[in-house]
Order: sequence, then structure tokens, then C-alpha cells
Amino acid sequence: MTILDGKKTSNDIKDEIAEAVKALKSKSKKTPHLAAVLVGTDGASMTYVNAKVKACERIGFNSTLIDLPENTSEENLLENIEKLNNDNDIDGFIVQLPLPKHIDEQKVLMAVNPDKDVDGFHPINVGKMTLDLPCFLSATPFGILELLERYKVETSGANVVVIGRSHIVGRPLSILMSQKRKAGNATVTVAHSRTKNLSEITQKADIIVAALGIPEFLTGDMVKEGVTIIDVGITRVPDETKPRGYRLAGDVHFESVGKKASFITPVPGGVGPMTIAMLLKNTLLACQRNNN
Ligand code: NAD
Repeated sequence: MTILDGKKTSNDIKDEIAEAVKALKSKSKKTPHLAAVLVGTDGASMTYVNAKVKACERIGFNSTLIDLPENTSEENLLENIEKLNNDNDIDGFIVQLPLPKHIDEQKVLMAVNPDKDVDGFHPINVGKMTLDLPCFLSATPFGILELLERYKVETSGANVVVIGRSHIVGRPLSILMSQKRKAGNATVTVAHSRTKNLSEITQKADIIVAALGIPEFLTGDMVKEGVTIIDVGITRVPDETKPRGYRLAGDVHFESVGKKASFITPVPGGVGPMTIAMLLKNTLLACQRNNN
């Protein structure tokens, strides 16, 4: 069994990006600049945003954090987005989700200039992605493709089952893996909450991507020998033995599934760090485009 080490791979990618930043600086070109908008004080969102800002520092990007209170109006948030859209120094920015309930998430995502939408959530980027046109790929699916490719997991002709049909993971990944591309050319089945007899489907899969948000949902009896497992889930499960009072659990029961898998991502240290690395990669691409 080989661990698909997202931590190591993401560090390799960050080193490559840092080299590219050095090259830009040595030619007196613009330094990549990523901004993040955080609304409220949700613990997980704050952790994610801080990790993104810290990663920028490490690789030589400029970063800006716009921290707005929980009760920020939709109008104020949209004004901040407009400023970022018009700021020529910002190459890309993200609005950390989820947003407080009084704010229309769709309206906010639509307000982001697609050329700065390094999360790849704007309908223009999603549309381009489905048509296989150059665009920002959303970071989590992009990271999963990169991990599969770097570990040379064979996807061409493989039977892939993606569990979960969310707009940010399951849906785009299922489209990407079915396309004629690296880490693609697979025969993809999308399973969701209404899927019947899921075990029968997963038992035939060469590759399973679990992205449903139910801790340790996929168990050893649901998979075949030699399967490749991508565990996207991250859930905080209460655990009083831990200093923070919780542990992070994936959607896969690692112990039982790991015994049968040929490749498997751990949680933490699998898909999570790859997501951040690919966000940085998208920002670098945006900056390189702005430099030309
Ligand atoms: P979501 O919560 O928006 O949707 C869950 C999906 O799972 C739905 O499509 C639903 O149909 C499906 N589902 C629910 N119960 C099911 C069942 N019993 N059988 C089959 N399918 C079922 O999903 P999301 O936003 O993609 O998040 C999924 C998980 O991935 C969460 O734990 C989230 O925290 C995590 N996540 C991790 C990263 C990362 O960087 N590692 C990024 C995004 C999301």
C-alpha cells in the first residue's frame, strides 16, 4: 500500500512555485499577489484562510487578508469584491466559504472577476472547465488530478466512482476525470445521497473518491483489492483526548480500507494540503498572464 502523500507533494509544488517567483523577481516582473476575504469568525474558515496566507509568505507571494465581521452586509462585501476586481496589484482572490446566512453566496461568487477567480467557482470558469478550455480549475479537484498524476496512478480506462456531487468537489472532479486529459480518460460514476446499493458500485471501482463529509463512511467491505482511494472528507469529530478537543476525520475508514488499497490518501496530509498548493498555482498562472 502506497500513501499518496499530499503534504510532501504539496511542498514539492510550493518549491516549484517559489522558484518561479524568484525568476519573476529576478526579471523585475510583478510578484504574485493573492487576497482572501474572510467574513465572520468560523473556526475552520479562519484556520483555512490563515494557512493560505502563511503559504503565500513561504513562497514569496504578496498576500492581503480582508477580515470582515460576521454582521457585514452583503452590500459591503460586494463593495470589497469590486475593489479587489479593480486593484491591478491583486492577481487573484478568494472569498472563503461558507458565508453567513444573510449573504447570498451565489451573488457573491458571480461578482468575482473570472480572470481573478483563482478558486475557479465563477460560472464562466466552470463552463470553460466543462468544455475543456483554458481556465482556473477549482483547487480541490485540480489537486486530486495532480496527486494522481505525480504518483502515476493509471486513470485511463479505469472505473472511477466519485461519492458526492457538490459544485466544489464531486461534480467538477467527475467531469475532469472523464475528459481526455492527464489523470483523465476514466469511466466515471457519480454517486450521491439517493444512490441505491452503493456498495455494489464501489466494489467494482478501480479508484474511489470519497467527498461526502460523513466520517469513516467508506469501509473495507465496500472496496475491492488493489483499489486507489482519494479521501476528500474533513470533519471535526469531538475527541477529548486531543488538546483542541477534536480530531480530523476523513470519509474513509483508513484501517479497514487501507488493508485492501494499493494507493490511499491520509487525513490529514492528503487532499487538504494539495488544495492550498493548487490555489497558489492558479495565482501564479494569473500573475504570469498579467506579466505578459
Ligand atoms: P457537500 O457537503 O456539499 O455535499 C455532500 C455530497 O455527498 C452531496 O452531493 C450528497 O449527495 C453526498 N452524500 C451525502 N450522503 C451520502 C450518502 N450516504 N451516500 C452517498 N452520497 C452522499 O460536499 P463537499 O462540500 O464536497 O464536502 C465534502 C467533504 O469534503 C466535507 O467533509 C468537506 O469538509 C470536505 N472538503 C475538503 C476539501 C479539502 O481541501 N480537503 C475541500 C472541500 C471539501
